[in-house]
Amino acid sequence: MTQPFGGGAPDPTAWTASNAGPPVAEERSTQAADLTRVDAITGRTVAGTIKQARVDADIVRERFSDGCIPVRPEIIAANAKLDVLVADIPDENFAGYYQDGKIYLNSLATRPRLRMTLAHEIGHWWDSAVMGRRPAVSTGSDPSRHRYVRRSSTDIEDAYADEFALSLLMPEDLVRLAYEERLPARVIGELFDVSTESARNRIIGLDLI
Ligand SMILES: [Zn+2]
Repeated sequence: MTQPFGGGAPDPTAWTASNAGPPVAEERSTQAADLTRVDAITGRTVAGTIKQARVDADIVRERFSDGCIPVRPEIIAANAKLDVLVADIPDENFAGYYQDGKIYLNSLATRPRLRMTLAHEIGHWWDSAVMGRRPAVSTGSDPSRHRYVRRSSTDIEDAYADEFALSLLMPEDLVRLAYEERLPARVIGELFDVSTESARNRIIGLDLI
């Protein structure tokens, strides 16, 4: 589909269910400088949130994946019966978002970015819809004013989703094994079908470097 959506709520008919093709990632480091900071909206600390994200990612992978490596977030999404909608959006800054129980992905994003973004959005789903941890409505601007509707997450929610994504796609025990074998981050990234940057973030997050 190449039908872009304008302002206002996303039109579900502009999207197709995704069960084929490469799925995304907001590949930002989650290693926030101040781990003791308490989020004003959610009351969660960064350190506690990251820890929780790791535990949750293991639970979600065990429950919904097929057990294969590389982990395929699209299989997890399918097994979790998540609505994943994809569209060709000619905007390289846009990879995907989660809203009201649905995941939206830009099929024009690169494969590693799609994979990581889908994993990130699954994290938002688990955090909010399943665990109900987030505020029901985010603060910030009215999404209808954005060209691409995007509910703005709080920093802490995105810190959670980022860490969740890294953990989901790169199980800790396997990353530790790979690192002990002295595999470089680039090769570890290839093993888990993620970018070298993501592999490095995971290694750093596990205090292996
Ligand atoms: Zn997010």
